[in-house]
Amino acid sequence: MPRGNIAHGLTVLAGPTAVGKGTVSTYIRDHYPHVWLSVSATTRPPRPGEKEGVHYYFVSPERFDELVAAGEMLEWAVVHGRNRYGTLRSTVEQAVAEGRSVLLEIDLQGARQVREKMPEANFVFLSPPSWDEMVRRLVGRGTETALEQQRRLETAKLELAAESEFDHTVVNDDVQRAAAELVSLMGLAPSERT
Ligand code: 5GP
Repeated sequence: MPRGNIAHGLTVLAGPTAVGKGTVSTYIRDHYPHVWLSVSATTRPPRPGEKEGVHYYFVSPERFDELVAAGEMLEWAVVHGRNRYGTLRSTVEQAVAEGRSVLLEIDLQGARQVREKMPEANFVFLSPPSWDEMVRRLVGRGTETALEQQRRLETAKLELAAESEFDHTVVNDDVQRAAAELVSLMGLAPSERT
């Protein structure tokens, strides 16, 4: 069941590896300017085309340690057993205080931490149309090694089992449709920028 006032609050989008969370959130960034998409900090190096402050804040492990020690992370996690990713607390809190509709696209561990701290937030699980389709997407991405793909599939199996912890499920059968459903679950009109 939805909890609290979700219209101008915080929505957390999580789901298994390679389900297309990044694609859906990129679509939302490009087509729904009234959604405030949180930019995470990460210790992972940028991929080709990724921009500082747009896709992530790319930070050193030392800087990440400092942010954690300073209490600047609303949540953070080691994802796929490798790099650290975290949500910058002050920017999100400020956006929520300003009445913006905030979207966090994070992993399941992070979603659980946000639930502890902000149980009134709206939790949306993005699910794949099928397991086979998810494997196809993961392998098709082609940016990770075979070992990395295997690691991500193991994570995905565990993450699929978490669907019942969420308020809503959106099936990512089509990016445009899934984005519109997510935006309407945020209590916003699902009209795109043209
Ligand atoms: P990628 O390296 O492909 O950009 O992202 C890998 C994973 O990190 C994705 O599942 C994404 O949801 C997750 N992620 C991105 N930002 C954050 C964050 O701030 N916190 C957490 N916990 N996970 C994140």
